[in-house]
Amino acid sequence: MKVPIDIETVNRLRGLLDDAKKIVIVMHVNPDGDAMGACLAIYHSLLQLYPEQEVTLVSPNHYPAFLQWMEYTDKILIFKDNRKIVKEKIAAADLIICLDFSSLSRLEDLEKTLRDSSAPKILVDHHINPAREEFVLVVSDISVSSTSEIIYRLMKVMRLPIPVPAAEALLTGIMTDTNNFRDNASNPETFEVVAELLRMGADKDKVTAAVYENFSASRMKLLGYALENMVVLPEYNAAYMTLSLEELNRFNFQPGDTESFVNYPLNIAKIKLSAYMSEQQDGSIRCSFRSRGDFSVNDLARKHFNGGGHRNAAGGRLTCSLKDATTFFVAQLENYKDALQLSI
Ligand code: 5GP
Ligand code: MN
Repeated sequence: MKVPIDIETVNRLRGLLDDAKKIVIVMHVNPDGDAMGACLAIYHSLLQLYPEQEVTLVSPNHYPAFLQWMEYTDKILIFKDNRKIVKEKIAAADLIICLDFSSLSRLEDLEKTLRDSSAPKILVDHHINPAREEFVLVVSDISVSSTSEIIYRLMKVMRLPIPVPAAEALLTGIMTDTNNFRDNASNPETFEVVAELLRMGADKDKVTAAVYENFSASRMKLLGYALENMVVLPEYNAAYMTLSLEELNRFNFQPGDTESFVNYPLNIAKIKLSAYMSEQQDGSIRCSFRSRGDFSVNDLARKHFNGGGHRNAAGGRLTCSLKDATTFFVAQLENYKDALQLSI
């Protein structure tokens, strides 16, 4: 890790946790395995360590169905469905822990409620350019595979309890953010952390089966449909897939069903950039990007798609039709032709 977890950080964290009576743990919009894993692991640990504290888990919207199996997902308060209770919990909180996002703007509808709260906010994350001014304490390192890996290191240095379900939550976070150890997992330290989690009793086969071998038949068919309609642009070493609301509904879409779809085009030889664009309920277009090598989809998402993320995995949003979004995407590629051809 580039940013060491120094003794001062540990002492401040310990002080903030010791002093808090009501803690709220917040994950980002469309929470993924890493956000869920990191938040649930801390939740497990705090329940054991401070049984007298009130700890609340909050997500802006629904988590994916394929993560339902994780212990205590039933405790997650969904802001979209429980606006009043979540607002009350956040207003009453004396500590807010934000995990796996770099700015409160990533909370969308929940952003204002968080900004209105005067409670100290802690951020633990691995995205580029964290909004440090929004938090009293930031532990951020973009070189680490996942927020779950950073959380593991923090929990270990702080000697926080890590019960088996917490270890499995962290393993889920590392596994999913590295696309099952394919991407962003070239640091031996990541595997050392995984080894330690397995020694603690995390069951890798159980987590793998729950995450990757748990598709509904309609989700699998949706993947086949999306791949069938994939557009390959060999002149840009790029490929993209789209799904309209009508297409999603046809396959009985559930939140999380299209998670990881964007990775598939990168299995094609020479493809360096993959995009997945989908129509949302509110009419906007969610865009997901993945790249290989030096090509930065974080830059692409920031500059043209109102988003951001990591160098090789990013997302954003457009307000237009799906057809215009694809035209816009292809038009941007012309500016990146050289970078896409040179990128290794
Ligand atoms: P995904 O494509 O899986 O939704 O997101 C990939 C990565 O990009 C994740 O690390 C996520 O946090 C980040 N990301 C996705 N959408 C956005 C967005 O709208 N804004 C920013 N800043 N980051 C995003
Ligand atoms: Mn993450």
